[in-house]
Amino acid sequence: MSQSDIDVACLTVRLGAIAENYRICRRLAGRAAVAGVVKADGYGLGANEVTRTLIAAGCDTLFVARLEEGINARPLAPDARIFVLDGAYPGAVPALIAHRLTPVLNSLAEIETWSAVARASGTTFEAALHFDTGMNRLGLPSYEFATLVAEAAARLRGIKLVLAMSHLACAEDTASLMNRTQLDRFRAGLARLPPVPASLSASGGAVLGKDYAFDMIRLGIGLYGGNPRAAGENPFTTAALLTGRILQLRRVDKGESVGYGASFRIGRKGTLATIALGYADGLMRAIGNRGMGAIGGMRAPVAGRVSMDLVTLDVTNIPDAALRTGAEVEFLGDTISLDELAQAANTAPYEILTSLGGRVPRRYVEAAR
Ligand SMILES: *Cc1c(COP(=O)(O)O)cnc(C)c1O
Repeated sequence: MSQSDIDVACLTVRLGAIAENYRICRRLAGRAAVAGVVKADGYGLGANEVTRTLIAAGCDTLFVARLEEGINARPLAPDARIFVLDGAYPGAVPALIAHRLTPVLNSLAEIETWSAVARASGTTFEAALHFDTGMNRLGLPSYEFATLVAEAAARLRGIKLVLAMSHLACAEDTASLMNRTQLDRFRAGLARLPPVPASLSASGGAVLGKDYAFDMIRLGIGLYGGNPRAAGENPFTTAALLTGRILQLRRVDKGESVGYGASFRIGRKGTLATIALGYADGLMRAIGNRGMGAIGGMRAPVAGRVSMDLVTLDVTNIPDAALRTGAEVEFLGDTISLDELAQAANTAPYEILTSLGGRVPRRYVEAAR
């Protein structure tokens, strides 16, 4: 049983699995280093616990998105290099310096900001340089990159580049031609820069092959057990389990409807189980009439809409012995994978994890499985 006796709903996080996923990626990465991406509260699983786990596993580099996430991580990882993806926008500078955070410089303007404060303080500040290769989201566009390269000595005064990075748009699709295009652009960009460690790949790139590894993988979703490939076997281990308990069982006659909108009608005499888990806990409403729950490893379809606190399963095909109030029901875990739940909810595994509700209690276990 993976939840406590008082909690009827629970998010169980296997810290051992997160450590294991870090090691799995290290093996995939060959000679490249592996950095842990702990943004968005560690993909919804708890940035503090994930950060501690990574540091204990030997990880010395973290990535966060927001400045506040970096400030939060600093005391937990006093010796790690913590990259802030949002960069060195002017308001961020004092806190970046105070908390020894390393900005990922995304534009000429940010390079100028960081260079100016370094020169003013008479020291050298470390930074990563992000140049765009096709994502068109963050990072220097090609016309800014050309200016930087032409005026590198002046533009980078006071800045010690410790990483040059870019980000793949289609890495989850191993067959996408975009991967090769971005790889070529990344190599061409690196050739125009002074020698610097390089990073192109997140979890998806980690399984694209050694050409994509460069010096560092930025491991996010794989750390949390997500499959970085849209299709094919997942090299990573399940780290998050979302479970609820059966509050009530009922027998229903053929033709009876279930839940709000009466959107499900049972086609035969059967049994329904109502479980204490709803969209306020992060169980996405989109899995109504589409998703699955599992009781003792046996799957049962969601019947009707997911409501705020509750979800109903058609458990007619589950043996009576497994059906009792208080029985644990899995919606994400060893039976129902993150991929399967995301597909049923018509979204990405990333959004499933980061939507795990504020209400559901989190339980941390050291186990890997
Ligand atoms: C979020 C993010 C990552 C991690 O991506 P995953 O697909 O979760 O491994 C890496 N790099 C950048 C720039 C990101 O924004």
